[in-house]
Formats: sequence, C-alpha cells, structure tokens
Amino acid sequence: MSLNPYLCQQKKGYMRPLQMVDTKTQYFKIKTEVDAAVLSVMESTMFIGGKVVNDFAQNLAAYNGVKHVIPCANGTDALQIAMMALGLKPGDEIITPSFTYIATVEAAALLHLSPVFVEVDKQTFCMDASAIEKAITPKTKAILPVHLYGHAAEMEKIMAIAKKHNLFVIEDNAQAIGCNYTFSDGTVKKTGSIGHIGTTSFYPSKNLGAFGDGGAIFTNDDALAEKLKMIAAHGQNRRYYHDVVGCNSRLDAMQAAILDIKLTHLDEYIAARIKAADYYDKAFAGQQKITTPYRAPYSSHVFHQYTLILNNVDRDGLGKYLSDNGVPSMIYYPLPCHRQKMFASFGGSEFNLPVTDWLTERVISIPIHTELDEEQQSFIVSNILNYINQN
Ligand SMILES: *Cc1c(COP(=O)(O)O)cnc(C)c1O
Repeated sequence: MSLNPYLCQQKKGYMRPLQMVDTKTQYFKIKTEVDAAVLSVMESTMFIGGKVVNDFAQNLAAYNGVKHVIPCANGTDALQIAMMALGLKPGDEIITPSFTYIATVEAAALLHLSPVFVEVDKQTFCMDASAIEKAITPKTKAILPVHLYGHAAEMEKIMAIAKKHNLFVIEDNAQAIGCNYTFSDGTVKKTGSIGHIGTTSFYPSKNLGAFGDGGAIFTNDDALAEKLKMIAAHGQNRRYYHDVVGCNSRLDAMQAAILDIKLTHLDEYIAARIKAADYYDKAFAGQQKITTPYRAPYSSHVFHQYTLILNNVDRDGLGKYLSDNGVPSMIYYPLPCHRQKMFASFGGSEFNLPVTDWLTERVISIPIHTELDEEQQSFIVSNILNYINQN
C-alpha cells in the first residue's frame, strides 16, 4: 500500500516535499470516485469514443460556454487540427507570440505555414495587441494568441483587428482553462470560446489534467465543428468514407471519465490556485527585486504558473540556492520560439523582439498548484527572500 500523502499532511512536523505540481495529493482526495470511474470504463471495454467521451465533451462545452467541444489526443494536435480546419495553406502567415511553449508554433511549421512572431506585453506575458497590425501582410490568414500562465490575452482588441482584416483567430487556451475574459460592455466569456477556434490540453500538469495525454478543440461555428471532427478522425465523413486528409487524434474513454470528475472540481482548483497566488503576492509586496504577476482588469487569472520577474537578481544562483534547499523552480521558457533552431529556416532569428528577450532572461516560476499549504508557501517565500537579501 503506497503512502497517502494527503494523510501525511495531517501529521505534525511533516511538510510534504515541495513540487512544481502535486498531482498525487490531488488524486488521493478524489481517489474513490476516480478509481470507480476508471474501473467502470474497463468493465465496459468501450475504450475509444462512446458515451463517456461524449458526456465529457458536452459537460466541458457547458462549462466553457461554447457550442462544440471536439476532444482529441493532446493540445498540440488540437492546434494542428484547428489550422487544418481553417484551410490554412503552405506559405500562409500566422501571427503569434514567440514567448510561449513551442507547441503553439510547431503545428504551424509542420503545415508549412509561416509563423510571424510578435511581442508580448511586459505585464501580462501575453501577445501585445498593439504589435499585431504592423505584422499583417497580404499573406496573413490568422492570429494565434496564447493565454499564457493562466492570464488572458487582450481578446477584445485582437478580435477587432481580426474582423477589420478578415483574419481567423485561434486561442491557445492550454494554460488558461476556466479563465474569464470581461469585455468593455461587461460581457464575460471563458477563454477558448472567443476566437473562431480555441484549443486546450489535458496534459497531467495542466489546470484540468488527465492521467495521461488529452486535448480538446472549441468552436461556436457549426460548419467548423463538422470539419474539426472530420479531420480528427482521418477526414472521415461517415465510416470508411474519407473526404479530406485528416489525422488520427482521439481522447480515450478512461481519460474522459477522469476529466469529467475533475471538471466538477475545476472551479475549486482554480480558487485554490488564486488563494496561493494571493499569499505570494502579499509575501513579496514591497520587494524591489521581485515583480509579482500582474492581473489585468479584463482577465481573471487561473494561475497555471506563478511567474516572477527578477530585477537585478542572479537567476541561476537563485535557482540553485532554492534547489539546494528543496524548493523547485522552473524557467518557462529558457529560449523563446524565434531563437529555437527549429525556426532557423523560417527566419526566426530575423525577428527583433526585445521585450520577449528581456522577459526570457528574468522570469522564474515557483510552485503553484491546488495542494499548496501555508507552511509550504512560507518555506518557499523565506528561501527566496533569504537569497535575494543576501545577494
Ligand atoms: C501544454 C501546451 C500545449 C500543448 O499541449 P500538449 O497536450 O502537451 O500537446 C500547447 N500550448 C501551450 C501554451 C501549452 O502550455
């Protein structure tokens, strides 16, 4: 019988080891429910498709305020299928930030589209809407904003630009499921439901994480939904009749069963992340060398990451000090997309993105997840402050 970390937590004088995410403690809290759901899929032997997957898709659509949810194998496939469904062709330009996870842009490269990298906002880490119009050319077909770290990109401005120039918008919502965007007229929408297509990932460490890989595509457009479904299923119109070139991208029933349970806890998970972020914000208030995450008035923050900007701090030194003291930290991401070798042949290095480079050199993400307690947070904070005040 394995150790139940949730119970250990109750023991006095025992601090659970620190991790960037603690999916194990989270699992133990819903273990009975999850195990029963997995067993029931096993007994049904309906491993692919079927009611469990359809129910989850419907529940997620209701949660996210979107008409159609098309489940797929992972968040990278979701992006690729989105680009294929919009009919993007080799040479078409797609405007996207460089300050993001590689998956955002990789699918574009795979389809021989041309990624055009634009700056991000120094405060929100998301696409700088004021940089988009300068990047538009006659070849531009789509804008691909990323709701990085759990904070929304400026969707109202992005949608207005897209409308004016007749462009598609794909939202990479892999890090921000559950995030609310407030428009200037007061309308509130979930990220992923605003653009023509939204995509997300259920990678285990994401805010709605599976016990394996998974992803989903969102749209409010009936015709697009049909295309997305077809492309994810070998371009199949009806069984064994294939109208377009597609791929094979499915969410399996066990993952859907687990995700359906976790979806009912998502708002509570988000609240726990916000609570942990509030604790950090307070603890770091007034520190000259630390900028805590900004929260724009138009976006809620679901804190997939809690990312600090360091001012005049030896970041490698801090990372090593923390690691020596049992505090994990991560750099998301150590090299922006336009500087990756992968994009050398796409002219990546020709992009001049000083804000992206500036942030890349200064960001550090510290543990944030649904299971952090104040004892752990206090330990993390004091280690960071110890290093910063001694160096
Ligand atoms: C995780 C992630 C993806 C890819 O999701 P996978 O399920 O790992 O394929 C895409 N974009 C962003 C911003 C991500 O964080």
